[in-house]
Amino acid sequence: CGIVGIVGNQPVSERLVDALKRLEYRGYDSAGVATIHDGVLARRRAEGKLVNLETKLRAEPLAGKTGIAHTRWATHGAPTENNAHPHFTDGVAVVHNGIIENFSELKDELAHAGATFSTQTDTEVVAQLLAKLVRDGMSQKDAMQAMLRRVTGAYALAVIFQDAPGTIMAARSGPPLAVGFGKGEMFLGSDAIALSPFTNEITYLIDGDWAVLTADGVEILDHDGKQVARPRQVSVAAA
Ligand code: GLU
Repeated sequence: CGIVGIVGNQPVSERLVDALKRLEYRGYDSAGVATIHDGVLARRRAEGKLVNLETKLRAEPLAGKTGIAHTRWATHGAPTENNAHPHFTDGVAVVHNGIIENFSELKDELAHAGATFSTQTDTEVVAQLLAKLVRDGMSQKDAMQAMLRRVTGAYALAVIFQDAPGTIMAARSGPPLAVGFGKGEMFLGSDAIALSPFTNEITYLIDGDWAVLTADGVEILDHDGKQVARPRQVSVAAA
């Protein structure tokens, strides 16, 4: 339902949760955050309101300067902590807004190839498919593009890989996704309002776009992997 991401030069977990609060008005049933710190991908997730996630983060803080976060409005799989995003498989973390229409076909195929699913969500196929493509030898970028060719439906996605701590990959086909430009940091949000405390300079991805964010900037690509230019604009979302 809500997505935020930061690839930054300062700790991100508190800022990610603050940004999620700006998306609370959209409604949600659970929430989660994942970061990479010292080469380790870690997450905290909680059912219910963001205060539950904050309580967990206070007890067990998450360090790290790259992270993604999500508020979930369950479509497939009960609104439990285990089904909350980010979904983890083999060093890949994924958050997703929308629905992967062909998830059961992909799930069967991946299970047949040896994948063990740990949630009831449609989203987990994205993490499992990316992990498999990378295990089979693809670069993370090639895996992202190949994954996007396989999934159908409506999605905004944000992905981090444990062994690429300075990068967030994102994709849009349906639900909105905006990239925000900071100073030595880059941001991702499903709504410009989520990014308003960080920056008012944004670029909206259009359907079929995917993007690679690093602290220095963003590369936006089309369905065929060709680099494309999208206009930068000043967001009018209230700070
Ligand atoms: N379909 C996904 C799920 O049920 C994402 C739902 C959302 O947009 O929050 O987990």
